[in-house]
This record gives sequence, C-alpha cells and structure tokens, in this order.
Amino acid sequence: MWSTVHNPSVPSYEMVKKINNKLQIDYQKGLIESRLLQIISTDPKINILNLIPVWVIEINPKDSSKALNGVKSVTEDPVNLQHVKRVKKEAGKNTLTVLVCSKTYLSTEEEVIQMLSSLNVPDYTNLRTVEVPDHGPNIKELSNQWTREHWPLIWKGNVNDQILNDTVINMDFIYSHLKKISEKSLEIEMETQKEKDNTALPIVTLIAKGPEIVAMESDKRSPTDPLTHSIMSCIDQITSTQKLNNTDTSHQYLLQGYDVYTTHEPCTMCCMALIHSRINRLIYLKQSCDTGSLRSRYFIHDNKYLNSKYEVWEWVGSEDEQISNHSLQNNGLLDILLPKVCNVRLCDVEQFGDNSGDTTEEIRPSCALQLFREAMHSDKGTGLLGDVQWDA
Ligand SMILES: [Zn+2]
Repeated sequence: MWSTVHNPSVPSYEMVKKINNKLQIDYQKGLIESRLLQIISTDPKINILNLIPVWVIEINPKDSSKALNGVKSVTEDPVNLQHVKRVKKEAGKNTLTVLVCSKTYLSTEEEVIQMLSSLNVPDYTNLRTVEVPDHGPNIKELSNQWTREHWPLIWKGNVNDQILNDTVINMDFIYSHLKKISEKSLEIEMETQKEKDNTALPIVTLIAKGPEIVAMESDKRSPTDPLTHSIMSCIDQITSTQKLNNTDTSHQYLLQGYDVYTTHEPCTMCCMALIHSRINRLIYLKQSCDTGSLRSRYFIHDNKYLNSKYEVWEWVGSEDEQISNHSLQNNGLLDILLPKVCNVRLCDVEQFGDNSGDTTEEIRPSCALQLFREAMHSDKGTGLLGDVQWDA
C-alpha cells in the first residue's frame, strides 16, 4: 500500500532541484509524502512581530548613494539589521527615508548627529526614531505585511523550503528498514509478555547506506552495563567490522553518508554519539517524550553550537493508514501502528471490557488489543506502549 505513493526512480544522496524531485512536500508542516515529518529547531517566535527603535533621516534622492555608503560603513551596531532595507520611499514625500542605526547603538540625538557628520552624510532633515521588526518572518505573506505596516524587509525566501526541495527520499528502502526494526521490536515485546523475567526493552536500531544494512542491534542494557543502547551497540558493531576488515578510517568519520533507523527517539548520549560519527540522516518511529533529545527537547541534531548536524525525520503516516487498514495487523507494522492507535484511541479502552483477543472493531487488530490491555494493567507507566518511556 505504501509503495504506491512515491517515485522510486529518484536517486538517493544527491542534491536535486525540485523539478527533478517528485516528492510530495508540505512546506508549511515540513512533511514529505504525508509520512515523514521533518524535525527542526525552528524558533517558535519566528513569525511573531517584535519592533525595535531605529534612527532615520530624510534625504534628497540624488544624495541616496552617498548617504547609504555612509550609514552602511557603520559596523559596530550590535543590532543585526540585515533583514531590513536601508531606504524607504514614503507616499506623498519627495524625499527618501534612510535608516541610520539602532537606538541600542546610539541612544541620543546628539550622538547620531555627531556620527552623521563624521561619515560625511549630505544634508538631511527630520532626524527621528521609528520602529522596525527586529527579525524577518519565514512566511512571504507575513514579510509583505510587515513591510506594508512597518518598514520594508528583505525577503530571501524560506531557507527550509530549499532544504526540503533538496531532500531525496527513497520510500522503498525506508519502508523496508522501518518494517524490519518494527518487526524485531514487536518480537521482543512479545517475548517480554511471555516470559515474566525478560526485561529486554523493545528498542531496535539499524544503520544503512541506502538499501544496504550494515548493522542492526536491539537494546541490551542491564544494571551492570547501562550504556548498551541499541544505537551505541550499532556503532560498536561497525567499529569492530572496520577493525576486522582493517579499513583505514583515519581520514573519515565513522558513519559519514550512513542513515540510522530506530524505533524510538534517542537519548542524549546516543544523539551525541551520532553527531560525533557524522551520520547523514536519522528516522525514528516513536517520539520519546520524557527522554528523547531531538524533537522532545534539545534538538541536538540541529544545534548551531555543535560542530555538525544531521537530518531527522519522524515517521507519522496518515491517520487513516494508522487506524483504518485492518490488513496491517499481518504485515509486521504493528509496532509502528500500535502506539499511534493507542494514543489516538486511549479514551476508547473502556469500551472493550473483557472481550480480550476480540477484533470487534477493524481499527484494532486483536494482537494490538491484547498488548494494549496488558500495557494498561502493567506497572510500566501510564500504560499503552506509546506512553511507556525509556531512554532509547
Ligand atoms: Zn540512548
């Protein structure tokens, strides 16, 4: 079912122009093919208007270049004004209004007059302060609105639209890799249900280069070995293979060009290990609200203070796909679906009463229902696999 929505002929790992990239992209939501949600640390205030005072003067249009050269030579202004135009043409006036500097930089009129004189700015009038937006928004319509209502802004396009355009996704092997870790996770979960003393966590990671899988590990942590998270084990596995093959890694990072597929949003330790290894992309199935360090907090993959970054995507799929297709219970995607079914349908649990193993509603496969109920009665947390939190 999922394989019908993409164009498998699109090659991977190349920067492409949108015209060659047939992916269906929702730019506003950062959603590709309605299935992969882009995780980035967008400043939530980016589209909220905040005005700051700046000094302006009015000049004769013939003096504009001289005046502009003067004010643009001021480099000490601590306020970034690169998003605003320096000149404004006001309706009904035969002069141009030129932005001189922020009021944070020079707080008094005397200081501004003194600076303009030292810059040899030609005759000017009407020195005063006006308010301009302190940053540019990432929506073109909003940029135009702020320009109309306050001061002309420079629109350079939404940088992230370009990033999305350049994203190349091959749904075939993404689907295949996710299915693999999902099945393994479900297997572990089933074992845990059967054997009461089995404490294994159903967290699974796979590292691949395109379709080629180079490592796959499940979580092996224990009280005496608390660091063997599945991502760390995968990295270890690749390191050992390279040592065995005597591969010379002195000139490259361990995972440059590799993608990571994991069942749960990773913890801080694993996210940082992936920064150090220089992976290309990470795709996870379930958000870890309490312990995840990507979408849930920190956005470690997209932190400007760290020396590298990687792409992160969360598999979301459409709600119809998650809950309405009965056949999914048999195709190994249960673990992808289960938490989402549970999250969406939490309020419906009581309706099931004691009809265990029942497929009375096609939205819930019997297997899911059983796990659903056991999770509800376990002491793992609030119940429901999707709500149980581990640091992954
Ligand atoms: Zn971890």
